[in-house]
Amino acid sequence: MAKQSLETIRVFALGGLGELGKNMYVVETEEEILIIDAGWMFPEDDMLGVDVVIPDISYLVQNKEKVRGIIVTHGHEDHIGALAYILRKIQAPVYGTKLTIGLVEDHLKEKGLRKKADLRQIHGESRITVGQFPIHFFRVTHSIPDSVGISIETPQGLIVHTGDFKFDQNPVDGLYTDIDKLTRIGKRGVLCLLSDSTNAEIPGTSPSETSTGSGIAEVFQEAEGRIMVTTFASNVHRIQQVINAAQSEQRKIAVVGHSMSKVIEISRKLGYLHCPDDIFVDPSEVENMDPKRTAVLCTGSQGEPMSALTQMAKGSHHELAVEKGDTVVIAANPKAGNEKSVSRLIDFLYQLGAEVIYGRDNVHASGHGFQEELMLMLNLLRPSYFIPVHGEFRMQQAHGELAEAAGVSPDNTFLLDKGEVVEFTNKKAKRSGKVPSGNVLIDGLGVGDVGNIVLRDRRLLSEDGILVVVVTLNKKSTGIVSGPDIISRGFVYVRESEELMEEANTKVKTTLEKALSENVKEWSTLKSNVRDVLSRFLYEKTKRRPMILPIIMEV
Ligand SMILES: [Zn+2]
Ligand SMILES: [Zn+2]
Repeated sequence: MAKQSLETIRVFALGGLGELGKNMYVVETEEEILIIDAGWMFPEDDMLGVDVVIPDISYLVQNKEKVRGIIVTHGHEDHIGALAYILRKIQAPVYGTKLTIGLVEDHLKEKGLRKKADLRQIHGESRITVGQFPIHFFRVTHSIPDSVGISIETPQGLIVHTGDFKFDQNPVDGLYTDIDKLTRIGKRGVLCLLSDSTNAEIPGTSPSETSTGSGIAEVFQEAEGRIMVTTFASNVHRIQQVINAAQSEQRKIAVVGHSMSKVIEISRKLGYLHCPDDIFVDPSEVENMDPKRTAVLCTGSQGEPMSALTQMAKGSHHELAVEKGDTVVIAANPKAGNEKSVSRLIDFLYQLGAEVIYGRDNVHASGHGFQEELMLMLNLLRPSYFIPVHGEFRMQQAHGELAEAAGVSPDNTFLLDKGEVVEFTNKKAKRSGKVPSGNVLIDGLGVGDVGNIVLRDRRLLSEDGILVVVVTLNKKSTGIVSGPDIISRGFVYVRESEELMEEANTKVKTTLEKALSENVKEWSTLKSNVRDVLSRFLYEKTKRRPMILPIIMEV
């Protein structure tokens, strides 16, 4: 045992620090690696054309024989979305609660990986051993049911990861954050706490999920026409409260949007959503129903252009359209970066003559605890060391300040970036270098093939468009056989710029002829001559810098 206590433990994140999304935390000893969560993130605005972003897992792949397991704290995509990509490279069992595993199964099925994966179900009271690590869980309240935090026993003490949490004093399913167990864990002594920083900047206590239920019920009592409600598809409690409100006002519900139908199906099957079968109607029936007896539950709370609500608003949905007299409830707050598209959508709905109820109207409550709740967690666990996680840097920092108020010395709080390692030896922690970390971009079937160079090109194309110059030379490269032909996209409207294009054409032609007469034969030189002359000319005339792509052919 003496030797074991000397063993160094390393803790770091491959995602989830300095950002909201793609959570992935790692606990590592000499022989073993334990992974907590494997999420993805939606791309930033400058990642043009990218579908999703996952963490760079090259460190884990290099050490894949050490990986003993992946524990997922709950079923949100910023915690499970990258699993399929990771399980393709690393073989390890995945542990999660019943609903979480249900959602993981579905996610893996879509990627064709369900059969290969080793999925193991746990619950709030489970005690398991993964590799050498004895692990306990504790139930937490969050915006998806069946969320847990994790307590990992190490020879140096407990490492606790809260997962995403709030202390909801009136949870919809009656399952509270397990304060009793947290107290016991705190009494045993926590070496290091990793805790959710999302709302570390917001004072006070977050409203209970139940309060949104009253907000929604009020809308259902008062609305004269149809009601359309959108929320995060995974927010099963919110969906339950919409169903309850519909039931008590004798409205039927049409579910629109793939992810919404999927989550409802899975959570009903697993017993997390309770409602009679006959409350649901097919979306195609809605048009012929009494508006006062109808509600639509749909995706699109973030104003996503392809989502059900946006399409219903724009008239491009094949079954339903928002009309004058409808009441639209956006039972969600826009996530950072989505504010604009949501406010555009709200404007658009008002223009259609709909009544819009949104965040400020008591129809949304965050799933992440505010300052008082984060303090409560710190006070219950009294950690020796603290790593604020799940947040942008300013949230991590605010969380660090709360920890200081709760008695954790600032020297013992680590504000980390992705990849930065904290090392524990003899119960003392220090920073210890970095492991590779970063973003892996996923575009269509490509994983990681879109990098900075491709993104730079996409950015250029999106700014001033492209010009392709095609010219055919004779075999000996002494003269032009045909062309140059200039084709442009996204640069100018060619029909109104014939003069400019003709002039550009002449420029290219004279440049090439001059070079050829001077016996220049290398295509690379010819191409760069064309590029230089053309880009200078076009900039003079238009002050634009399109991408120029010369193509030389030979006959
Ligand atoms: Zn979450
Ligand atoms: Zn999260």
